[in-house]
Amino acid sequence: MVNIDEQEIINAAKVIKGGGLVLFPTETVYGIGANGLNETAVKNIFKAKGRASDNPLILHISHADMLKDIAKDISELEYKLMDAFWPGPFTIVLNKTDIVPTVVTGGLDTVAVRMPRNKIANRLIHYAGVPIAAPSANISGKPSGTCVEDVYDELKNSMDYIIDGGKCEVGIESTVVKVENGSVRILRPGRITKEDIESIVSSVILDEHILGEVKENEKVLSPGMKYRHYAPKTKCIMIYSENNENMVNRINEIANEYSKATVICSRENKDKYVGKEILDYGSKTNLEEISSNIFSMLRNADKNESDIILIEGIESKGIGLAIMNRLIRACSHEFYIV
Ligand code: AMP
Ligand code: MG
Repeated sequence: MVNIDEQEIINAAKVIKGGGLVLFPTETVYGIGANGLNETAVKNIFKAKGRASDNPLILHISHADMLKDIAKDISELEYKLMDAFWPGPFTIVLNKTDIVPTVVTGGLDTVAVRMPRNKIANRLIHYAGVPIAAPSANISGKPSGTCVEDVYDELKNSMDYIIDGGKCEVGIESTVVKVENGSVRILRPGRITKEDIESIVSSVILDEHILGEVKENEKVLSPGMKYRHYAPKTKCIMIYSENNENMVNRINEIANEYSKATVICSRENKDKYVGKEILDYGSKTNLEEISSNIFSMLRNADKNESDIILIEGIESKGIGLAIMNRLIRACSHEFYIV
């Protein structure tokens, strides 16, 4: 994280207070922030992203005191989760109060709330003095922005202020959970893993749409699950096998069917795809490294102007589940387990 002058954050907070849009870093990905209580400002976020109006936004707070204004009827279990994982890459869906505009929640009675741990994000919210509504910084459907350079061209005209805080540490969006009948349901996996949550709560459920596809007209608990996400312009296919050699062979076979293929793979495998464009996403022994690189990799792969992007999958355990959730969507559910 780069050091930002305090005055810059104060200036950005004034823009938020005045109803403008600010591109700002969090520890997960960059956000497009606006005053979460100002309906017009929030509508401008949807416009800037081209986001469907039923896909709700997360409200970001800097201090637990802000919670009571926006959420009500909070249970002991919900407090326990917030205590354990805030500040951090953890979002919880709670019952909303009347002051939260329905434009934020896509018409739902619930609101998703997060307290980021990134210092710039935290101070920005503090100086703004209001919860900041912020989705990931990207045009809807594209990979989320994890550094300003990746999204500058697509967002510069719609932002009123840009804070460049360098590369995001986590690199994938927050874990989203909802408590139902004493169980914690994970609606979107992230750096706070199922295993992390199980260390404090006995019953944790993974929503079936985390790796599965949403069928037409199917009801989902998190509207974001329905939409195409994270996708480069070039067609992408993911291939995974527990057997590394099988995975590499299958990727080479598919790549050979195309005149120009880009392979996104682990550092350990990068010399195994002869004649292909290679992007290495980090060591497969370091999932944190892979998660922090993956969205930039998907964007960079497009720059090669290949006919196909082939991506090595990883084991869906720990943070691996969150990475696979993003990769499966980047590939529009076209993936092979071999
Ligand atoms: P993004 O803004 O791109 O990080 O996406 C926010 C995610 O949080 C989307 O997948 C939304 O569906 C989900 N979300 C936000 N608010 C709610 C809510 N009230 N209930 C369920 N999911 C929500
Ligand atoms: Mg997003």
